[in-house]
Amino acid sequence: MKIIMLGAPGAGKGTQAKMIAEKYGIPHVSTGDIFRANIKNGTELGMEAKKYMDQGLLVPDELTVKILLDRVAQADCAKGYVLDGFPRTIPQAEVLDEALNKLGEKIDYAINVDVPDENIVRRMSGRRACLKCGATYHIEHIPPKKEGVCDTCSSELVLRDDDRPETVQNRLKVYHEQTQPLIDFYTAKGVLKTVDGTVDMKDVFAAITNILG
Ligand code: ADP
Ligand code: AMP
Repeated sequence: MKIIMLGAPGAGKGTQAKMIAEKYGIPHVSTGDIFRANIKNGTELGMEAKKYMDQGLLVPDELTVKILLDRVAQADCAKGYVLDGFPRTIPQAEVLDEALNKLGEKIDYAINVDVPDENIVRRMSGRRACLKCGATYHIEHIPPKKEGVCDTCSSELVLRDDDRPETVQNRLKVYHEQTQPLIDFYTAKGVLKTVDGTVDMKDVFAAITNILG
């Protein structure tokens, strides 16, 4: 099963993608996580991506597409995957589509997690991320057992540089201009499903599993 998560930054794509990955036994592929891992390790790719990420801008398509196609060509993706944060532009979606076409494959579901802009800034300023294992928490809604410490790997939790309110406004603007058109793109393909992302994460997940079966 090949699934794409769509939605504004902070809508809960990552939170749901991790739960989907676990339930359906497919890898969770997040381009944002791949970039952050590269930044942490000081790679050339990480340094290039950081220039854009810190301003709330998208990393150029050419770079992002290459990374994603390399990742989904790995053996663990043979039975499917859940993409979180990719595609984010129409050209990215077209490249993915062509690559899948060549293999006689297609995206089965594009799940749009719908959260209005008003809720997003509060969500993002409360998000705490583990840069080691990729786990995500929220200081009010989904707190870790011990404040500031990851439940899974005991590393320190941080407020991502790009989750500061000034950058979030930029990311929302970029989302509306460049990513929202994907809703029409996947509607036209007959695979778009929208769920209400404002309810409790367990209820969002129940709506998603209803769709995926
Ligand atoms: P995205 O991957 O779309 O950027 P995340 O999954 O990281 O978003 O979620 C953004 C923030 O909102 C995180 O702090 C997360 O813990 C929190 N969150 C996710 N789902 C919900 C929900 N249904 N209700 C409240 N907070 C949520
Ligand atoms: P995320 O973790 O999905 O919120 O992504 C964090 C940041 O990484 C984004 O704001 C972008 O700067 C960059 N990024 C992640 N995925 C993509 C993508 N598909 N295309 C371009 N930039 C991306």
